[in-house]
Amino acid sequence: MQEGKEVYKIIYLLIFILLALFCSEKKDQKQQSDLELKMNSIAEGYVKLVLEVGKYDANYVDAYYGPKEWKPKEENLQIDSTTNAKLIFNADSLLNELELLSEYKATELETLRYRYLYKQLFAVKTKLIILSGSVLPFDLESRALYDISPLDINEEDLQKVIDELDKILPGKGDVAERITNFKKQFEVPKDKIAAVFDAAIKECRSRTSKYINLPAGEKFKAEYVVGKPWGAYNWYKGNLFSVIQITTDFPIYIESAVGIAAHEGYPGHHVYNILLEQNLVKDKGWIEYTVYPLYSPQSLIAEGTAVIGEEILFPGDERMKFEKEVLFPLAKLDAKNADLYYKVISLQEKLSGAGVLAAKNYINGDWTDEETVAWLQKFQLRTKERAEKYLSFIETYRSYVVTYNMGEVIIRDYIERNGGTEDNLARKWEILTKLISSPHTPSSLLD
Ligand SMILES: [Zn+2]
Repeated sequence: MQEGKEVYKIIYLLIFILLALFCSEKKDQKQQSDLELKMNSIAEGYVKLVLEVGKYDANYVDAYYGPKEWKPKEENLQIDSTTNAKLIFNADSLLNELELLSEYKATELETLRYRYLYKQLFAVKTKLIILSGSVLPFDLESRALYDISPLDINEEDLQKVIDELDKILPGKGDVAERITNFKKQFEVPKDKIAAVFDAAIKECRSRTSKYINLPAGEKFKAEYVVGKPWGAYNWYKGNLFSVIQITTDFPIYIESAVGIAAHEGYPGHHVYNILLEQNLVKDKGWIEYTVYPLYSPQSLIAEGTAVIGEEILFPGDERMKFEKEVLFPLAKLDAKNADLYYKVISLQEKLSGAGVLAAKNYINGDWTDEETVAWLQKFQLRTKERAEKYLSFIETYRSYVVTYNMGEVIIRDYIERNGGTEDNLARKWEILTKLISSPHTPSSLLD
């Protein structure tokens, strides 16, 4: 009988352990769902705060497709110091609440969500500080808004590229003038722009869909506009739909059709937005992705992936081949100087960082309007009109220019470091797809 009692003891002990385990798991689940609820509530606070800030800067809310009743009716208002202080207090409260939720980092995706929300909120606070009239130095503004510091741009490196162009461009004399004259033969006639763009976007979409499962029903509409500080823009409307606007008051060169189609459409901004909507808003119910504040780390990821996506889409000389065979005839352009044209274009692209240096000196108050325009003419080989247009972009969007340049550097490096090397196209697509379908922050992609 003694033996029998021992058996009962063991059985009771086992039941007790199982019950304790069951209860602690229940408690963990409850704790986790409480954390989830708190996280969702902070996310809601973030969306409402971004929409509120949007009342004071019409460019701030790049996209919003959350509850309609949250959208403020007023816009283009002047912020007063009381409102500004109240909104900064709101941002701080949300940041504090988030800090208290540090256990909410269960899965890899949830960790990304947490970190993303924190950095985005920090950028909202920075935007409010800027709205209060404080002027931040360019590098600090860029770090606070986009989670990254710009690299130094070396004038000597830019000059080397210009010297190369000087050697290969036809004629003698001023390089900026010669490049403009040479590129004239590759200007798409105005009445052919729509046909050329349609063909480019069809190709970009078809190539993208080989690697990315595009959600059914996704679509976009193209519009042609004038008088904007940008060349093209993707306006994401939600429900897997974008409006892509293209400005036509400046010449559109043949290679920019694919550039715009890939950057704004496939696999660029349109695809980025539809994948976030599909994976995070529709599948997970994470409300914070229904709003896109332009001046935030999200933009650096969006711009960087759009720039690199354009490159991955056409490996080797496939892009030249497609343009020569399909787009040149559609635009009724002669392709006889096309090879030289592509050399010129790829060299001119190396001057893109010059824009960051111009923005930095202009924003920091070191250069006047005239000095900035002259510098852009000299080191980006822009015409005076295009340099002035770029200056108006800097005036409107300030340090936003770093998102292209640094976005490209960070995303390229991240893809290569993770096995997306020259000979591994499938891996490049795999990483790019992950980057545009889950929330990432720029500094977390650094080595
Ligand atoms: Zn863009």
